[in-house]
Amino acid sequence: MSFPDLTSDLKARMPQLRGRLLANQPLADLTWFRVGGPAQVLFMPEDESDLAYFLRHLPTEIPVTVIGLGSNLIVRDGGVPGVVIRLGRGFNEIAIEADHRIRAGSGVPDVKVARAAADAGIAGLTFLRGIPGAVGGALRMNGGAYGRETKDVLIEARAVDRAGNVHVLSNADMHYTYRHCGAPEDFIFTQALFQGEAGDKAAIGAEMDKITEAREATQPIKSRTGGSTFKNPPGQKAWALIDAAGCRGLVVGGAQVSELHCNFLLNLGGATAADIETLGETVRARVKAQSGVDLDWEIKRIGVPA
Ligand SMILES: Cc1cc2nc3c(=O)[nH]c(=O)nc-3n(C[C@H](O)[C@H](O)[C@H](O)COP(=O)(O)OP(=O)(O)OC[C@H]3O[C@@H](n4cnc5c(N)ncnc54)[C@H](O)[C@@H]3O)c2cc1C
Repeated sequence: MSFPDLTSDLKARMPQLRGRLLANQPLADLTWFRVGGPAQVLFMPEDESDLAYFLRHLPTEIPVTVIGLGSNLIVRDGGVPGVVIRLGRGFNEIAIEADHRIRAGSGVPDVKVARAAADAGIAGLTFLRGIPGAVGGALRMNGGAYGRETKDVLIEARAVDRAGNVHVLSNADMHYTYRHCGAPEDFIFTQALFQGEAGDKAAIGAEMDKITEAREATQPIKSRTGGSTFKNPPGQKAWALIDAAGCRGLVVGGAQVSELHCNFLLNLGGATAADIETLGETVRARVKAQSGVDLDWEIKRIGVPA
């Protein structure tokens, strides 16, 4: 399967573009699930100004999708029409600032923010140790764990909109709720400023180790998965509803509901994106029938079916 190649036309329109543009680039290896088709165009900007230049000159009818480390993502088997943007090298800066603050580019893995904070004796950011995405994904998903979420530690975020304008958003501008960010859908986050607090290096290190151990014991972290599939409904646990509906271990094609943590879906090796999505929808239907609760997808699904 392949899309018409748009890259020569785009390069001609954007002579000053510095980032890489690739046609029909497979996306499966850029996601934890390792499934799905190609991006019609994959763009990896060099830095924020390159991203803004690209968006300013990109014809408005071409859709744009941004991905981070693909740890919360199903790419459908037919691939993603338009442009997929992945922020890499040029978004990897990380700096300790005064008053226990850390500034990080949106391509920085969350774990690196947690480690930098620990090394600097900054407490309050250890929860990021357990989230396998990058800063951009944490900003968009309001990623959280162990009773803390991005909203609790964010001072401000930078973003570029679809027209190429740069914005600085305060915490309130992000309109955060549980695993949701209310900033405009087209905003691509480029940087975050986090607030920590004074802490003891040894105590922070011990907390990080505890998180690592807890993750290994309770989650299939070495598997092809997308983390929690569904949001916890108010006052309830999605995994418990899934378990009660008899879905633990349920299989569709090459996809399975994890035996270890039944809000995780797994690619057993040969799954298609359709297998994983159908398994998720089967779980939703069974939970609805058993408990009357409508589970809401936390995992983002992008692209088109085969
Ligand atoms: C084993 C495992 C454990 C997990 N545990 C947790 C957990 O404890 N807590 C938790 O909250 N999540 C958890 N997750 C889910 C996931 O890691 C988080 O949602 C993470 O924040 C996603 O970041 P990412 O870079 O992988 O984003 P992706 O999966 O690539 O994208 C997720 C969403 O963010 C958007 N996005 C990504 N980057 C940007 C950007 N720069 N600007 C705008 N939008 C962007 C994408 O468009 C998409 O809608 C887990 C996942 C796995 C696989």
